[in-house]
Amino acid sequence: MSYLSNVVRRAASRQMPASGRNVRLRCFSSELGQTTEKSVPYHKTLKEERSQDKGPTRPLPKSANVVVVGGGSLGCQTIYHLAKMGVSNVVLLERDRLTSGTTWHTAGLLWQLRPSDVEVELLAHTRNVVSKDLEEETGLHTGWIQNGGLFIASNKQRLDEYKRLMSLGKVYGIESYVLSPAETKELYPHMNVDDLYGTLYVPKDGTMDPAGTCTTLSRAATTRGASVIENCPVTGIQVTADDLGMQRVAAVETNYGTIQTPCVVNCAGVWARALGQMAGVNVPLVAMQHAYVVTERIEGIQNMPNVRDHDASVYLRLQGDALSVGGYESNPIFWEEVSEKFAFGLFDLDWDVFMQHIEGAINRVPVLEKTGIKSTVCGPESFTPDHKPLMGEAPEVRGFFLGCGFNSAGMMLGGGCGKELAHWIIHGRPEKDMYGYDIRRFHRSLTANNRWIRERSHESYAKNYSVVFPYDEPLAGRNMRRDPLHEELLQQGCVYQERHGWERPGWFNPRGAAPIKNECLTCRNALAVFDMSYFGKFYLVGPEARKAADWLFTADVSKSPGLTIYTCMLNKHGGVESDLTVSQISPGTQVSSLTPAFEGDGYYLAVGGAVAQHNWSHITTVLQDMRLQCKLVDCSEELGMISIQGPASRMVLQEVLDADLSNEAFPFSSHKLVKAAGCMVRAMRLSFVGEMGWELHVPKQDCVRVYQAVMKAGAGHGITNAGYRAIDSLSIEKGYRHWHADLRPDDTPLEAGLAFTCKLKSSIPFLGRKALEIQKATGVLRRLVCFTIDETVPMFGLEAIWRNGKVVGHIRRADFGFAINKTIAYGYIWNPDGGPVSLEFVKSGEYMLERMGATYPATAHTKSPFDPENKRVKGIY
Ligand SMILES: Cc1cc2nc3c(=O)[nH]c(=O)nc-3n(C[C@H](O)[C@H](O)[C@H](O)COP(=O)(O)OP(=O)(O)OC[C@H]3O[C@@H](n4cnc5c(N)ncnc54)[C@H](O)[C@@H]3O)c2cc1C
Repeated sequence: MSYLSNVVRRAASRQMPASGRNVRLRCFSSELGQTTEKSVPYHKTLKEERSQDKGPTRPLPKSANVVVVGGGSLGCQTIYHLAKMGVSNVVLLERDRLTSGTTWHTAGLLWQLRPSDVEVELLAHTRNVVSKDLEEETGLHTGWIQNGGLFIASNKQRLDEYKRLMSLGKVYGIESYVLSPAETKELYPHMNVDDLYGTLYVPKDGTMDPAGTCTTLSRAATTRGASVIENCPVTGIQVTADDLGMQRVAAVETNYGTIQTPCVVNCAGVWARALGQMAGVNVPLVAMQHAYVVTERIEGIQNMPNVRDHDASVYLRLQGDALSVGGYESNPIFWEEVSEKFAFGLFDLDWDVFMQHIEGAINRVPVLEKTGIKSTVCGPESFTPDHKPLMGEAPEVRGFFLGCGFNSAGMMLGGGCGKELAHWIIHGRPEKDMYGYDIRRFHRSLTANNRWIRERSHESYAKNYSVVFPYDEPLAGRNMRRDPLHEELLQQGCVYQERHGWERPGWFNPRGAAPIKNECLTCRNALAVFDMSYFGKFYLVGPEARKAADWLFTADVSKSPGLTIYTCMLNKHGGVESDLTVSQISPGTQVSSLTPAFEGDGYYLAVGGAVAQHNWSHITTVLQDMRLQCKLVDCSEELGMISIQGPASRMVLQEVLDADLSNEAFPFSSHKLVKAAGCMVRAMRLSFVGEMGWELHVPKQDCVRVYQAVMKAGAGHGITNAGYRAIDSLSIEKGYRHWHADLRPDDTPLEAGLAFTCKLKSSIPFLGRKALEIQKATGVLRRLVCFTIDETVPMFGLEAIWRNGKVVGHIRRADFGFAINKTIAYGYIWNPDGGPVSLEFVKSGEYMLERMGATYPATAHTKSPFDPENKRVKGIY
């Protein structure tokens, strides 16, 4: 018998023979010698009849509407949901037997609370599927055990984080309790609570059984007509170019036949990269080893909740009358060469790496010190650069969908993600806001960069249990994309944030506290310069560009050349896929990055830099679907963008630009080609901070010169550099929306207060119009509301919104507004009694915002609390 305490001692004195980094594959063995084949969970059900040589378990069809590749958690959930949503002729191909990759040995934990509203909803759906739906549909029990979950806090910050989750849980009806150390001891008598600050107890968390879940999913799917074919490895994906040159999926090849199909779903786990390569698609994930050990019986542990001790980076999962102990190490082991032959396999556990969890586990449950280890379970799992899954249609190949990269959460997220993936395949877009999981969140240069993928995935793995601090920035994989002003601003004390591979200015003051207040107030009272060069800058040009613009944009962007129009782009459900500015342009006579040559119509698009790939993919997909004769040209790297904002901006810029900047000559929302410090630039009178100001779009070779000229001219007027932290604060104060925060693909412009961007009074059809017309007729069922909090208390989003004593929503984005000197928060509210949410409904309520369990009175505003009459952007001070 080897006790956990011995493991710690032996490793500490270096007697533990480490398996080293040359990992050997093996089935059911253990370095300690205590693990026997018998003791590894689930092997009896899954190992029997295992043979890839037997050939497919069913004959292959000649064609299929959808082929899902991989029979793990994700593949099974996806085929189940596709079948349930009525898709016929769906086939799942599994190389070996169901669950044989990672899924068979999962710990299967499901925690309901996460710091994201979308993830809370995804988890709730998985829980419904495994605890209720499947049993009702098949009469089979999935093996779901509801033993509860307990999050451990060893310090105040951690408990604050849990309290934040608790407040969000109230919005979704998820029961949770913050417990004192004494209450925790009463609930979990084996626990050491001496060093506890508190805990969060979620009684309806639990554990999923991988074999039971996947078998039942497969049974339910096949009952609805889907086919599950095991022992059938996919060996190739046929891709053809259509007459517009777009790559599309055509067929799936196996050694047993070819299936013609327009749609392939890559649910191949750690093998997803190899499967992607078959289709010419980059899948940015790495395979790493992830492990837990299973203890011998522990008297009195039965029925205890599962435990996550984030500060010790360890989890304790109840397994009958024993515990499984696992966690996330700072030095994980990569699986460098992912073997095709690996099925129902495990690795030798490297105790040097794993040992850190044992110490944490013994500290939390001291009885473990005298408890034997029954088995070790160390298997492969895929991890991604931001620790979020990879989903959606690949930008490279139409019809090739991803459902992989699950970062050790593929069981609990499987149901929610399977449903969204099915929706995505059927309707072209998911139902929820899945941008955080969408493959299009990464720029195409990054998904092909192995070093970036590896370094960033490593950091994300190591930080998995870290407190999610607002404004945290990654350390790994930085400086992938730098704009023309990077070095110049670095010398002036710029502290950078990373978005989409770009380094963008966060704030200026590397050695002191972040001077956000100073940057904001200088912008409001004098002027500030923002380097927004990381913006995506595209030209939409060609004979049918006008037709494309009419269909893509909610606003009429062609009504008046010379204007720059703020508009949205929608999906067919009326959800906002993007907000951006569009300027109609004329063909250049002297071709340059500012003045491209083209036939027909032309538009210059400026979109937030972090979401440029998403915009690019959305537009190209629509152009392909509509078969329009126009093209999208990316000049993001060719042009910089310098924004000068504030009451003194006109006076200062008048010295730098060769144009008349008066309201009459250069009104708000217009653009012109002008000279700045002798260089040709496109100047736009726009603001994202609520001040009079101009954006200068400058060829990259001239950026430094133009910037220096602006700084020189502004020196006597108190000009300051400012970064995106200031933009966040200034823009929320003015009520400007941030895409993917207060404006998402599951929000419509009518709900978000952006009806003014929609040409509903015209007869021009546009994507999403029908959905908006229906919504306009019936009234919106939720509405974005601005709140200010009288008490000075920081808020960051996810706070619960109470109206007249009932929860009616949660905050999406919050920040401090320095000009009004208040915390400002935006969130959507619904009517708890059902029915539309009118402005009267908004105005008539009494509101409280709940932050970390405490409530604060809040005032609802139907207009921006700062400059509600929009005077400042028009130059009226
Ligand atoms: C130790 C450990 C503990 C974990 N604990 C938890 C937990 O508590 N909670 C949780 O939610 N998640 C947990 N996870 C993660 C979870 O188990 C995984 O995220 C999930 O199982 C991944 O499922 P998948 O379907 O993406 O991949 P897999 O299960 O690996 O399925 C992929 C399938 O694709 C097949 N395949 C590959 N290539 C081909 C091909 N060419 N043709 C046909 N088939 C192919 C493979 O054979 C495999 O069966 C844990 C993981 C590990 C390693």
